[in-house]
Amino acid sequence: SPTLRNPEQWCRSFSYFISQCLIKDFEARPSVTHLLEHPFIKQAHGKDVALRQQLAALIQEGIIMSLTSYRHERINTRKTLIIQSCPDDDLVNLEFLDEETIICHLQKRYDELQVYTYVGDILIALNPFQNLSIYSPQFSKLYHGVKRADNPPHIFATADAAYQGMVTFCKDQCIIISGESGAGKTESAHLIVQHLTFLGKANNRSLREKILQVNPLVEAFGNACTAINDNSSRFGKYLEMKFTPTGAVIGAKISEYLLEKSRVIKQAVGEKNFHIFYYIYAGLYHQNKLKAYRLPEGTPPRFVLENCKVMQDIVSGKLYKEQFDAIQECFRNIGFTEEEVNSVYRILSAILNTGNIEFAAITSQHQTDKSEVPNSEALESAASLLSIGPEELQEALTSQCVVTRGETIIRTNTVDKAADVRDAMSKALYGRLFSWIVNRINSLLHSSSNAAESCMNVGILDIFGFENFKKNSFEQLCINIANEQIQFYFNQHIFALEQMEYQSEGVDASLVEYEDNRPILDMFLQKPMGLLSLLDEESRFPQATDQTLVDKFEDNLRCKYFWIPKRVELCFGIQHYAGKVMYDVNGFLEKNRDTLPADIVVVLRTSENKLLQQLFSSPLTKTVMFLACVWPVHRCGVFTVNVCVQVDTMEMMRHPEETTNMRRQTVASYFRYSLMDLLSKMVVGQPHFVRCIKPNDDRQALRFCKERVMVQLRYTGILETVNIRRQGYSHRILFEEFVNRYYYLAFRAHQMPETSKENAVAILQRAKLEDWVLGKTKVFLKYYHVEQLNLLLREV
Ligand code: ATP
Ligand code: MG
Repeated sequence: SPTLRNPEQWCRSFSYFISQCLIKDFEARPSVTHLLEHPFIKQAHGKDVALRQQLAALIQEGIIMSLTSYRHERINTRKTLIIQSCPDDDLVNLEFLDEETIICHLQKRYDELQVYTYVGDILIALNPFQNLSIYSPQFSKLYHGVKRADNPPHIFATADAAYQGMVTFCKDQCIIISGESGAGKTESAHLIVQHLTFLGKANNRSLREKILQVNPLVEAFGNACTAINDNSSRFGKYLEMKFTPTGAVIGAKISEYLLEKSRVIKQAVGEKNFHIFYYIYAGLYHQNKLKAYRLPEGTPPRFVLENCKVMQDIVSGKLYKEQFDAIQECFRNIGFTEEEVNSVYRILSAILNTGNIEFAAITSQHQTDKSEVPNSEALESAASLLSIGPEELQEALTSQCVVTRGETIIRTNTVDKAADVRDAMSKALYGRLFSWIVNRINSLLHSSSNAAESCMNVGILDIFGFENFKKNSFEQLCINIANEQIQFYFNQHIFALEQMEYQSEGVDASLVEYEDNRPILDMFLQKPMGLLSLLDEESRFPQATDQTLVDKFEDNLRCKYFWIPKRVELCFGIQHYAGKVMYDVNGFLEKNRDTLPADIVVVLRTSENKLLQQLFSSPLTKTVMFLACVWPVHRCGVFTVNVCVQVDTMEMMRHPEETTNMRRQTVASYFRYSLMDLLSKMVVGQPHFVRCIKPNDDRQALRFCKERVMVQLRYTGILETVNIRRQGYSHRILFEEFVNRYYYLAFRAHQMPETSKENAVAILQRAKLEDWVLGKTKVFLKYYHVEQLNLLLREV
C-alpha cells in the first residue's frame, strides 16, 4: 500500500478489515488456514508471505476476533486497501441525534461488548462489569502511535492520544476521568497507567513495577467497600506520570485529595472501613502475629466490626490474606524499608486498639464530669504500639489543658468528650499516615531527572464520583462540590471555549444551549456568603449548633439550587448538576472543625517511634504550596481565557501560619485549597475526557438500563456535546498550517504556494468540499472534511 508503507502498520489495519468482513462469515473463531484462504484476503494481500505470517500471528493471538467495528471501505484499482473507521464508533457521526437513537446505539454496542464509544474526542466508557480480553499486551501494541481512526475506541487510545500529544507538542497532558460511584473510573485509571507505562518504554523492570504498584498500594489505604461499590475510592487521586522529552517514562507523582477520614471511626450500615484494616488483620492472623501487634483475637476490633461480626469473617477465605501479601510486595518493590513498613503496621494496629478504648463516668460528690478508662488493655496496647506512656495517653484522652488569662488549668472530659478525643486521634493518625505514605511513594518514585525542567507529565485524575445516598453528610457534600467543579471545567472546555472561539473568529454559530453549573458553584464557594464560608464562620463559634448552622444557611442562601425541607429537621437540599441531594446536617460543624486537641499532639510527639514523630512534629508537606501562584490561564487555540475560581488565594497568603497549622484549618477551607490545587494542575495540561457510565445499579454484566444511562448522559453534558460537535466545526486549522498540510491537492509539489487565505480557499475548492467556513485566521471544517482531505491526500 502506498499509504501504509510500514508492513506492521499495514497488517494491523488489515486485521481490522478482516475481522469486520469475516466475523460475519464465521460463527465460531475462524481457523488460520480458513482465514488466509478467504477470497478477500487473497485478493488484498497478494503473495506476501511475511504479511501472511504476521496476520496468522494476529489471528492466533485472538486480536482480530475481538474487533468488529471496522468495515471494508473499498479496494481500489491499485489493490490499496482503504479502511475507514465505521461511523458508529463516534456518536457525532450518527445521522439522527435524538436521545433515543443515541441510547439505542450505545445499547447495541454494549450488547456486543463494545464498551467504548467516542463523542468527538471524548471517550464514553460503559462499565462492562466483567473481565474483557481487550487489555492484553497485544492490544497495547495496537494502540501505539496510530491514528485514532485506525482502531476501535478504547481507553488505550485515549492514553495513546495523550502520550502522542505530549511528545509531539511538548505539552503536558491531563486525562480527566469522571462518572458516578461504581462507573469504572479507578479501573480506567489503572488501564491508562498500564498503557502509558508500555508507551513510555519503561524497559527498566523495576521502575515499571514500581509505577504499576502505586495504585494498588494507595488504594488499599484509600478505598473501601460502600453500598454502591466494593472498591470505592474514598479520596481523590491525581497521578502524574513523568516523561523525558523523548517520551521515556522516568517516574510518577501522586497528589491525594480529601480522604474520608471519618470512615475510620464509623461506617454506614452495610459499608466497611478502609481495606487495609481487613488486610492487616487477616495477614497478621495468618502469620501468627496478632499478639505481636497486640490485636484482639476472637472478636475483631470495633472499627472493623460493621459487617464482620466474628473474626472468621475476616480471616477465613484467602482474599484478605492474599491482598495483605500483595500489599507487602508493593511496599517492598516501591522501596519502603522494613522498619517503615513495620511502623505503618504498628500505627494501624494502634488505631484499631484505640477504637476499643472505652470510657466510664466517675461520679464523686464534687466531680461529675470526669471519665476514666475502665478496661486498660486496649489503652495499654495502643500506647505500647505508639511507643508512648499509657498514663500520658489516658490523661490526654480524659482531660485537657486550657490556658485562660495566662493561667493553665486542667479540665476533665466527660465520657462523650473523651470518646470524641479518641475518635479525633484515630482519624488524625490515619489521615496523616495516609499522607505520609503518599509522600514517601513520591520521594521513592522521584528520579533525579524528574526535577529537570524538560520533564513532561501526563496527569490522570480519578476523583470520587458523585454520591447520593439515603443519608448524605458532610463528606458527600465535599465530594459533590468537587464533582461540580470538574463538571464546570468540562463545560468550560467543551462549550464555553468553543463558543468563544467561534465568536472571536467571526464565525456565525448559533450558540448551543448548555446547563451552566456556575451559579451552583458560586453558591458553594463564594466569599463571604457562600455555603462553605458560612459553615466556616459558624464553626468558629463555640456555642454554635447544627441547628444554628441550618438557620444561618436559610437566612443567607437565597437561590433556587438550595432549599430547606419543611418537615425534616436539620436537613437541606441542593439541586446539583447531577440531581437533587438531601444533606443531613447532624455533625457538620464537628466534622468541619476536625479538631485534634493539643494534648494529644503533645503526647504523640513524645513517641519513640520515628515515623510517628514525623507525622506529628511538623506540618505535612502536602499543605498546599501552590497558594502562592496566581490562578493559571487556560489556553485554547490562540485565545487565552481566564478560568474563574472563586477561591481567595490572597487571604491565605496574608495568614501563612494558618496554612501551615493543620490543626487550625477547617476541613472546608482545606478543601477549597485542595480543589484549587487540583484545578491548577488540570488547566495547564491539554485535557482529555473519559466519561464513565454505569449501565445498571446491580453490577450485572450485559444489563443495560436505558433510564440510568440516559440520566448520566444528560447530566454529564454528553448529549449537548454530541450536538455541538455535530453542528459545529470540530476542526479549526490556521490558514498557514492548512496550506502547508494540503497544498498537494491543488498545487504541484515544487510550487510551494504562499500560505495565504486565498490559497487555502483554492485547496478547499479543488478538493470539492462543501459547507466549510472561513474565520479570520482559520479554516473551520466539519469532522468529515478532514477525513475526506486525508483520503484525497493518500490518492495523490
Ligand atoms: P468510585 O467513585 O466509587 O471510586 P469508580 O468509578 O472508581 O467508583 P471502579 O471502582 O473503577 O468505579 O469500578 C467499579 C467496579 O466495576 C470494579 O470493581 C469492577 O468490578 C467493575 N469495572 C469497572 N471497569 C471495568 C472494566 N473496564 N472491566 C471490567 N470490570 C470493570
Ligand atoms: Mg474509584
